[in-house]
Amino acid sequence: MDAVPRPDPDYIPKAADSFDDSGSALEPPSGCKFHPRCPHAMAVCKSVNPALVKLTDGREAVCELTN
Ligand code: SF4
Repeated sequence: MDAVPRPDPDYIPKAADSFDDSGSALEPPSGCKFHPRCPHAMAVCKSVNPALVKLTDGREAVCELTN
């Protein structure tokens, strides 16, 4: 979502350099595959692969934040 252009000439985009996007698809990281670049990653995300959770609105999610 940070890549979506904003129609505000005064908006200054934040630097995206806080994310480590250097992972390899051939050698994915342990735990949640997104944890190196997820801004919400917690300690558990580095070791536990989150399970698929059915949400009350019928959607499904795979994230520790839904537990
Ligand atoms: S489980 Fe959720 S919070 Fe944790 S790294 Fe993955 S996407 Fe981010």
